Amino acid sequence: MGQIRLLSETVASQVAAGEVVERPASVVKELIENSIDAGARKIDVMIRRGGISLVRVIDDGCGMDRDDALLSLERHATSKIRTAADLEAVATFGFRGEALPSIASVSRFRLTTREAHALAGTEIIVNGGKLDVVRDGGEAPGTQVEVRSLFYNLPARRKFLRSENTESRNIEHQVHLQAIGHPQIGFSFLRDDRVLFQLPATATLSYRIRDLFGVELLQRLVELAGTASPKIRISGFIGQAGLSRQTRTQQLVFVNGRAIESSLITGAIREGYHTALMKGQYPVTFFFLELDPASVDVNVHPAKREVRFRDPTGVREAIVQCIQQTLEAGRVAWQEKFRAPVSVPTVVGKTAPDLRLRPEESAPKESHRELSHLGSAVAAGASASSAALGMEIVGQARRLPALPADSASEALAVQQQAGRAAQQQFQIIGVLSKLYVLMENADGLVLVDQHAAHERVLFEELRRRMEEQGVPTQKLLLPQTFDVPPRDADWIERNLSILQKMGIGIESFGPDTFKIDSVPSFLDVSDPAQFMRKVIDDLKSAGNSTSAMRLGEEMIAKSVCRHAVKANDPLRYLEVEKLIRDLLDCDLPYCCPHGRPTMIQISHAELEKKFGRKV
Ligand code: ADP
Ligand code: MG
Repeated sequence: MGQIRLLSETVASQVAAGEVVERPASVVKELIENSIDAGARKIDVMIRRGGISLVRVIDDGCGMDRDDALLSLERHATSKIRTAADLEAVATFGFRGEALPSIASVSRFRLTTREAHALAGTEIIVNGGKLDVVRDGGEAPGTQVEVRSLFYNLPARRKFLRSENTESRNIEHQVHLQAIGHPQIGFSFLRDDRVLFQLPATATLSYRIRDLFGVELLQRLVELAGTASPKIRISGFIGQAGLSRQTRTQQLVFVNGRAIESSLITGAIREGYHTALMKGQYPVTFFFLELDPASVDVNVHPAKREVRFRDPTGVREAIVQCIQQTLEAGRVAWQEKFRAPVSVPTVVGKTAPDLRLRPEESAPKESHRELSHLGSAVAAGASASSAALGMEIVGQARRLPALPADSASEALAVQQQAGRAAQQQFQIIGVLSKLYVLMENADGLVLVDQHAAHERVLFEELRRRMEEQGVPTQKLLLPQTFDVPPRDADWIERNLSILQKMGIGIESFGPDTFKIDSVPSFLDVSDPAQFMRKVIDDLKSAGNSTSAMRLGEEMIAKSVCRHAVKANDPLRYLEVEKLIRDLLDCDLPYCCPHGRPTMIQISHAELEKKFGRKV
């Protein structure tokens, strides 16, 4: 007996603080969320020394009277829910009534608050959970919370903090999240007395993204297309295919306005991007999911960082579909823009010398290679006719006679030119470093990576064939047998039909032994047994949900790299032109099957800026 004792309030708060207040960024998160719940229109965040020395959050929200202010520092004191039933559908950020007492128990804490109509405000000072001062204060309406010397009374905790720089960056990320989640609220952020940003309240998310990350990023985003399901609303912006980052700092995900981490959502986004995203890279997303609060449980994680969905499969499917549709729609808009006629005056070239590459000059004849030789799998002549057409049009443009300078015929000429240019769609200027095709389009300059472009063309061609007739196979001269561990044998047995569809001729040949007699013809397989082990490994790691189609795509994506034209392969003009046309006909022209960009657009505006013609 006598071994069990109730913890004092302060110690209990410090224990809770272990979960809620992991680091300075969690303090910032909790305080900003309180400000948002209080209806703030403007929130100012200030930190010093990674937030360890000081975090100050000032809002112009509803404020509190003295009684509420005192109560707010008690554990489990909240104005946001009253009954357990309220937990079923939480509409505020807070509801646990833990943040303020937890923070106050591990810092030197000062709260000043005033309601708009009140004559005087209240100031409360708490040190390490001990209430020191309560008095009238004269601040502006709203609430100001100051947290100094975080974890000063928990040295063990302090040791776990990272460098000031890292903690500052974590905080900055947290403020980014909140600012993106709430464009209608103005935010400012001061780090060590330097203003990092000052964001005016704005009506739309796109303005907020622009103000925070710049117009260049905004231009590379596409707006999410929405969803078919009435129960799930998806909005926001995602990076175009080919845009990705090495870290997840710009992969922002919100569920009912709350920034969260969800492997279900990020997994579904990745699946939606599929080959439009480089392996190991993260997409850029400003992704908002809204659904009935009753169908998502936010009370899963003490810092409310995770959520649980009632219908995870439905959510997943809606997201995959939405991302796919968005990228698809983005492609149509992009293709239209890309193919818009090049502005006419540059084509007429009456006075300016035309430095454009002439078809015959594009590459030294002796070193040329036929595109169709490079990848045996390229559909023979699929768009040879269009390439020929392109040539003819270029030729016509060149033969235009000089025009008399009267305006009527000039207008006519312009019209004719525009008609031709519309068919012509783009102008190839030349090839840089035997790798980058330089082109002109209505928007400015386009650089195409010929290797990446060819990879994409081959990939889609093979995929189409796989969908239509199954993968073409090639018989091995000598069928090979190979042994696998029992578990793999079992796996192969179960997936024989998938493997056959992928063009792998494989059958059982005794216990744990298989015979392979054909492989996909586009693959260059020197050691079939080795190849099979690799395929099995890949497929197993790809998971159960992956379809045969998807697995086949993976194989193709891997192999096209070897078959595509390389950097340093000089191409003839015709070949370049055919490559570009084929690329533009692809489902996802702007990135290779590994998600790297195939082309970069440099707009007239960017060029003008670089040359100082425009600020
Ligand atoms: P929770 O947010 O989970 O309710 P907190 O400990 O964060 O718990 O806050 C306790 C209560 O204090 C809130 O429910 C709210 O009523 C009040 N409060 C906290 N911060 C503010 C603020 N910035 N403005 C007005 N009221 C606030
Ligand atoms: Mg709170």
